[in-house]
Amino acid sequence: MRRREFLKIAAASLAGGGVIPQSDRALGMDTNITRADFLNGAPAATVQADWDGYGGVGDYSSANGNTYAVMTAGHGIRDALYKGELKGAQPTGETFDCVVVGGGISGLAAAHLYTEKTSRSKRCLVLEDHPIFGGEARRNEFLVDRHRLIANQGSSMFFPSMPLSFTQKFYESIGFDGKPFEYQQWGGGKPELKLTTVPYAWGGPNAGMFFGARFGHPEGLWLIDPWGKNLAGAPLPEHIKQQLLQARKGNPSFVPPKTDGDEVARALDKMSLEEHLMQRDGLSREFIREYMPTAADGAGSSADEISAYASYAPEVLFPWNNAAGEQTFPGGNTGIARLIVKAMIPQALPGPATLSGMCAETVDFPKLDQEGQPVRIRLGATVADVRHEGDGVDVSYAVEGRLYTVHARSVVMSGGWTTWRTIPDLPKPIALRTSSSTVCLVSS
Ligand SMILES: Cc1cc2nc3c(=O)[nH]c(=O)nc-3n(C[C@H](O)[C@H](O)[C@H](O)COP(=O)(O)OP(=O)(O)OC[C@H]3O[C@@H](n4cnc5c(N)ncnc54)[C@H](O)[C@@H]3O)c2cc1C
Repeated sequence: MRRREFLKIAAASLAGGGVIPQSDRALGMDTNITRADFLNGAPAATVQADWDGYGGVGDYSSANGNTYAVMTAGHGIRDALYKGELKGAQPTGETFDCVVVGGGISGLAAAHLYTEKTSRSKRCLVLEDHPIFGGEARRNEFLVDRHRLIANQGSSMFFPSMPLSFTQKFYESIGFDGKPFEYQQWGGGKPELKLTTVPYAWGGPNAGMFFGARFGHPEGLWLIDPWGKNLAGAPLPEHIKQQLLQARKGNPSFVPPKTDGDEVARALDKMSLEEHLMQRDGLSREFIREYMPTAADGAGSSADEISAYASYAPEVLFPWNNAAGEQTFPGGNTGIARLIVKAMIPQALPGPATLSGMCAETVDFPKLDQEGQPVRIRLGATVADVRHEGDGVDVSYAVEGRLYTVHARSVVMSGGWTTWRTIPDLPKPIALRTSSSTVCLVSS
């Protein structure tokens, strides 16, 4: 199925190996960041500027990907740099009924459902390390020749829901109808440019594959309609072409799981996606690692690490209206993230609760984190430590290298891999399963 077909052949993603390439060195990736630099949040400005690049205009201009500040804070968690500083963390004096770690769609949805189920009577805090909420569902905007171009950073498409399904109810709770869009018909005199409803290069006469220096084409070679041509003309060895074609075709005789926990689902959950692709499609491990680095990118993971079932689980758990097709609004699922925030904190995103309304609206950032409201969203806050303390849980987070602690009666962890690095007493079997978009709950 399409959601599993995250096979994108891009020269950039084919670069690998342990040696730091020159381009990365230019970005300062080989620069030693001292502990003092890290904790003071004072990296050389040029390295930071080079890393971040131009972020365009609008709400997301300083949230273009994992910025230098986010990356160094994340590496601080990975390298346990905050541990020695915890004792000096400044208590904010706040106690929340629920703290949500991570402000992506999972974390925002958790906060929204919590607030709804408690009739807005409890206090919830979302801590997010980026300068804006959304996680993978963020966008960038550029002004080009007086036109505003908007493109998604990661999560781009939503899946029209089945009536009465959980997804439909969720959509409705944020004021979204979840219906497919109506599309403008081709009106120009020139031959029609066939476009898909999503930005993924899934093929067709207008799709292209780019081959650069690594493939013997420093000048760059575009192969248009590669799949229609069965990769004829691609500068790849024949056996690689055959495996690419096989990977694209899949194995039609494989019967996917029908329900969560059925025999097929359990068998898939016992193996990695990599092993499954080898068994199901007859691909070699080397091929998968070299040519399918994005096989599990929808889960922010790699094929050797993630359970094979994770590739089927979304379809099984949240069946959707396949016939309607995937849909993308400008900015991708940013619109859905913004609608969730509007449902929780309407004053932070005034304007009509529609995808177009949310697309055009500007976030009133100070309104996200104000005392007295049922939900607060604190940005630029990297959670470094989550531990049981007294009658609840202490959550310590870094803002510009300085640590603060809030107290919580319950915590939802939705930050992926950082979960097992931040909860010291997390049991190993749970820790092993938190590498991608998993949500787990910590409470007293
Ligand atoms: C390239 C790509 C494309 C995708 N395309 C689609 C698509 O088209 N449609 C779709 O439905 N899904 C898509 N997905 C899957 C998508 O990731 C999910 O649908 C959804 O956006 C995941 O939300 P999340 O909240 O679980 O994780 P994320 O979006 O990753 O959000 C987690 C957030 O928590 C933050 N965080 C992590 N640790 C900490 C910490 N310690 N302290 C504070 N904050 C922290 C992270 O920085 C991040 O902002 C795509 C994924 C990728 C990687």
